[in-house]
Amino acid sequence: MKNLLILFSLMLSHQSLACNDWQKTDLRHYELQAVEIIKNWLDRLESKYQVDMNSVRNRSPRNTQSQTEMAAGILMCSQKVLEKGFNYQCTNSTEYTAITMPLFGREVKISDVGFWRLHHPAKVAVVLHESTHKCGTNDAIYFKDDERPRNHGFYGWATIASTYEVWALQGLCIPGQDCD
Ligand SMILES: [Zn+2]
Repeated sequence: MKNLLILFSLMLSHQSLACNDWQKTDLRHYELQAVEIIKNWLDRLESKYQVDMNSVRNRSPRNTQSQTEMAAGILMCSQKVLEKGFNYQCTNSTEYTAITMPLFGREVKISDVGFWRLHHPAKVAVVLHESTHKCGTNDAIYFKDDERPRNHGFYGWATIASTYEVWALQGLCIPGQDCD
C-alpha cells in the first residue's frame, strides 16, 4: 500500500514534458526491438520449455498452471502493449528511470536524468519492463546485474517486472530449471 502511494505521487509529481522528436523516434525503436525479443522468447518457451501456447492464449495471465505459463501469458500481453505503443512523457525526475501506472492507461514517464544515460540494451530492457506492468507485474524487487530471477516474498518470479528486464540483458532462463 505504501509503495502504491509512492507510485501515485511519483506519477503526479515532476514537470512532465512532451518528448521531443528524436526521443519519440528512439523510444518507438526500443519498443519494436522489445517486441522482437519477446517473439524470440515465446518461440523458445514453446520449443525448449514445452509451454502450451494455445492453453496460455485462452486464459488470463494470472490464471495459468505454472509460473512459466504465466510468464508466457504476460509476454503475449506485453507484445500487444508494445506494438500499440506507449504515450511517453519525458520528465526531469531523479527518483526513477521510467515509471508507469500498473494495468491502466498508456502513459510512461521517462526520466531525462536516468534513462538517456543507459546503454542501448538497457533502454530496451527498461521499456520491456514497463510493458509488463500493464500486464500485471509488480516491482517486488529489482534484481541487480549479478542476480538471477527468483521468487520474492509473496511474489512469484513471473509476476516481478525485473525478471523480464534481466532476461533482456542476460538471456531467458527459468528459475528452478536453468536460472540458478
Ligand atoms: Zn517497474
